[in-house]
Amino acid sequence: MIPLSVPHIAGNEWDYVKECLDTGWVSSAGRFVDRFESKMAESVSVGHAVACVSGTAALHVALLCVGVSSGDEVIVPTLTFIAPVNTILYVGAHPVFMDCDKHLNIDVGKVQDFCTKECDFRNGVLINKTSGRSIRAILPVHVFGHPVDMEPLLGIAERYHLKVIEDATESLGSRYVRGRDKGRHTGTVGHVGCFSFNGNKIITTGGGGMIVTDNEQIARRAKYLTTQAKDDAERFVHDEVGFNYRLTNVQAAIGCAQLERLDEYVGIKRKHFEIYRRLLENVPGLSLVTEPAFGRSNYWHYTLVVDERCYGCGAENLRGRLKENGIETRMVWELSHRQKPYRGFQAYRIEEAIRCQAACLNLPCSVSLEESTIERVCDEIRG
Ligand SMILES: *Cc1c(COP(=O)(O)O)cnc(C)c1O
Repeated sequence: MIPLSVPHIAGNEWDYVKECLDTGWVSSAGRFVDRFESKMAESVSVGHAVACVSGTAALHVALLCVGVSSGDEVIVPTLTFIAPVNTILYVGAHPVFMDCDKHLNIDVGKVQDFCTKECDFRNGVLINKTSGRSIRAILPVHVFGHPVDMEPLLGIAERYHLKVIEDATESLGSRYVRGRDKGRHTGTVGHVGCFSFNGNKIITTGGGGMIVTDNEQIARRAKYLTTQAKDDAERFVHDEVGFNYRLTNVQAAIGCAQLERLDEYVGIKRKHFEIYRRLLENVPGLSLVTEPAFGRSNYWHYTLVVDERCYGCGAENLRGRLKENGIETRMVWELSHRQKPYRGFQAYRIEEAIRCQAACLNLPCSVSLEESTIERVCDEIRG
């Protein structure tokens, strides 16, 4: 079986983990936690990085740190893994679902339309005319690694006093190459950004996450909330309800070793994308989702768009056929606004996301893929 995605562990992971075991520093303090945070901050060129137990925990705390609270609304794409949407509910807020663009990212034009046509801006607060609630934040997701068009999104956020929490969990290694944010890393453009080191991400710690920000106050608050909100560590005084969202030293040790290879992994991912593109470009009815002109994607996933009429069968059928031939692929996520817990929430003019959800298929994308394996996958796809 050719798997969709497996971790690539081939560097200093063993040595660093052994050091944790040999020294007894296995839990949530230790030099690898500090080092992982500082190396991540350096890697994405940001002032502060706070390690935590998962990308989901990072998003949860990020929402709290920018002040999203009970009864607020948060604008979020419907085409996303469910985690960011769930975290909106964790803080008692409500999602407002948005459509996607051709890179599968939040449709910034529709966000703009929604804010101007469907909301009132009163006394510095954006009020949703439909629900009467305050819109407090936008939570864009850099889907499959492709950078979101942050410049106009930040413009909207500034105009309407909204906070921006970037779900950069899939886009470690992705940057802007044009425009105002040229040179910046995804996750560092909004008020706060979140990364994940789950097993299927471009680098992994087994499970883990990171909150990044240039805002020192947000960073301090993130550290505080992820470490049980200790106000006096000697006497165990807690002035607020905190969380045990700490990353362990063992996980951070794996993270340090993985991070050393990130640039190499991104290079391999991009090279593999070019091979897929070359082998599939002349197949009628098939195309691949590409990075936007203003960004350089880590190409975490290779997403095939299947035009059923032209190709002869749909994405779901193709998935079944590939599976029979030992190739694992995956449909993109069921849309969030159609998931059972979220059917009652507002969804604004969702059109493109419905088409994409039905037509998109993610192809094998492990860093360790051989060129000959990609050729085999493409041979099967060409049929
Ligand atoms: C992986 C992922 C997360 C959650 O990360 P975990 O570390 O698994 O909690 C959040 N958002 C998106 C878009 C993801 O792909």
